[in-house]
Amino acid sequence: MKLRWWLTLVYLLTLGVPLSANSTFTLDPVNPPLTHACLVVALGLIGVISGIAWSIYRTNRRLMQCITESQQAECTLHTLSTAIEQSPTSVVITGLDATIHYVNPRFTQVTGFAAAEVMGKNAKILNSGLTPKATFEAMWRQLSRGELWSGEIINRRKNGQIYWEEAHICPVKDRSGQTTQYVSVKLDISERKQTEQYEKSRNRVLELLAQGAALPVILEAIARSVEESNPGVLCCILQMASDGQRLLIGAAPSLPDFYNTAIHDLKIGPGVGSCGTAAFTGERVIVEDIQHHPYWANFKELAAQASLGSCWSEPIRSASGQVLGTFTIYHRDVCQPVDTDIRLLKQSANLAAIAIDHSRAVEALRTSEEQYRLLAENATDVIWTIDFDGRFTYISPSVEKLRGYTVAEAMEQSLDESLTPESAAIAKFELAQSIEMMRKGQPFPDHRGEFEQPCKDGSTVWVEITTTGIYNVSGEFVSILGVSRNITERKQIQDRMAYLAHHDALTDLPNRVLFSDRLNRALAQAQRNLTRMALMFIDLDKFKPINDTLGHAVGDLMLKETAIRLCACVRSADTVGRIGGDEFVVLLPMINHPQDALRVAEKIRHALNLPFELASHYLSISSSIGVAIAPEHGMNEIELAKHADMAMYHAKQAGRNNVKLFQPEMQGAES
Ligand code: GH3
Ligand code: MG
Repeated sequence: MKLRWWLTLVYLLTLGVPLSANSTFTLDPVNPPLTHACLVVALGLIGVISGIAWSIYRTNRRLMQCITESQQAECTLHTLSTAIEQSPTSVVITGLDATIHYVNPRFTQVTGFAAAEVMGKNAKILNSGLTPKATFEAMWRQLSRGELWSGEIINRRKNGQIYWEEAHICPVKDRSGQTTQYVSVKLDISERKQTEQYEKSRNRVLELLAQGAALPVILEAIARSVEESNPGVLCCILQMASDGQRLLIGAAPSLPDFYNTAIHDLKIGPGVGSCGTAAFTGERVIVEDIQHHPYWANFKELAAQASLGSCWSEPIRSASGQVLGTFTIYHRDVCQPVDTDIRLLKQSANLAAIAIDHSRAVEALRTSEEQYRLLAENATDVIWTIDFDGRFTYISPSVEKLRGYTVAEAMEQSLDESLTPESAAIAKFELAQSIEMMRKGQPFPDHRGEFEQPCKDGSTVWVEITTTGIYNVSGEFVSILGVSRNITERKQIQDRMAYLAHHDALTDLPNRVLFSDRLNRALAQAQRNLTRMALMFIDLDKFKPINDTLGHAVGDLMLKETAIRLCACVRSADTVGRIGGDEFVVLLPMINHPQDALRVAEKIRHALNLPFELASHYLSISSSIGVAIAPEHGMNEIELAKHADMAMYHAKQAGRNNVKLFQPEMQGAES
């Protein structure tokens, strides 16, 4: 407005317009000097006025520029402040003495402190006391040099919870380069730290498992790893006892001994602290304030003594869902878990579950291996494995008891050496058959058979061998498993019974059954070969009186001695038998002529006629012998026996102590 007024004035002056209607100032053409003077003055005035106007104009322009710049700066400031206010990272501006000048809303979200609560306070308000001293020393060294510092700090939220932050602190300098403030940009990295810790802990656990470390070592590694990455946290891993009723300390490296002793072997149940309840219910139990929680009514003094404020317990579950124990986090203060804490609980419980599950599986395997080893080593049976080449790959120590060979000696033996030739032939045949079946894609067949094995002392032992194929989890054939059971005694009893079934118990001579068998074979052979054979019936004369006068025992002795004398009179191919009482039979399977048989019969009669010395008694006896020849006197057992008996009867009739060859007329005489 002012500027316009000045410009109008200059214009009027320039055109010689009178300043007012009453003005006497006019251009006088008659008086040029005056006119010139006036003009000069006017021009001078115009110059002055123009100069003033220009100056005003310039000032005004500068002002306008300043206003624009100020508006732009204000806009930029607004943008920046909006950015800081809405930043996802915490921003804190502090003075040189660490007094807080500004915090953005994110700071409040992370720390729980409202801006008004921290403004003017020292940034130490966040200090957890857990950041290493060296970290702060390095920070201040760098900041005092006017340089940016970046690092990780462990802080404490308003609720007492500890958290990790990544901080970037930058000095703010004035025009002279002097630091006036610090701007801190901070990122809550608790979650990242937890993930890193979990990965580290998991790898460590797997490494320990691979090394076969003991369970307490692994559990302690888990607990320590959680504690290292979560300062202020105290871990406790409890394991369920085998009865599923009590909890035992697995690892609690930072809890005081008296506390661990008190909770060790604690019976689980509802309301038995956080752990006992979690183990009992199988559900997570969060106790924020131990001193005022009903579950801790019986343990709060103990907790107070151990300076424990809160206790969160997660059940450790096996892959099958069985509760194996609890993973527990304690805080010194009353503390409420956030999402990351719950995740930490779950992850750590999972790790502990892997370790306990694995350890139990290893223990179960070790126990069963031990049981099988004890079984194999203490069994009377010999347990062994062989490959397809018949080479032993394992033999249990009981082999020494069975065969006298040590395990090492027996392992060196081939099939031929470990079995008698007959048994080895059978075993090799069966093995070849089994291999052939497997070659055709069939499973290894189970076998059971009786084999004879040589012993170190030169004797043999009979074993019943049971074999089966061993397959691995992939179904691949591994080797042949065999169990050898000593059946020598059984075999001996069987053999004895078989012997008794075919022999006379008193004389050991073949009885009627065996004699009959041999007679039939001899008859068949004679028929085949068109040869002769002879059958003799021998009956002692007047044997009964010996029994009656000297007793049955002496009679027995006589029968035994008779058997011996009879055997001495014949060849090894001949058979002497006893078919009852004082009746004996002799089979000569191969004779050329009936006279041959009669010669043997005479020899026998003579031998039995010789005196007997029995139990200090000298006794004499005679015998009556009947002889029948095949094929002349019969072609079958019944016929031949009948005729031999008939001939013997005739010998008796003839006064005893006689030998009679069967004659067809004897049949008529008898009837
Ligand atoms: P004989 O001259 O007619 O043959 O008359 P013997 O006295 O020999 O009588 P016999 O052959 O008819 O009877 C045989 C006797 O043998 C009958 C029985 O008392 C006896 N005896 C049968 N078995 C046994 C035995 O195992 N031990 C003994 N000590 N005596 C037996
Ligand atoms: Mg008799």
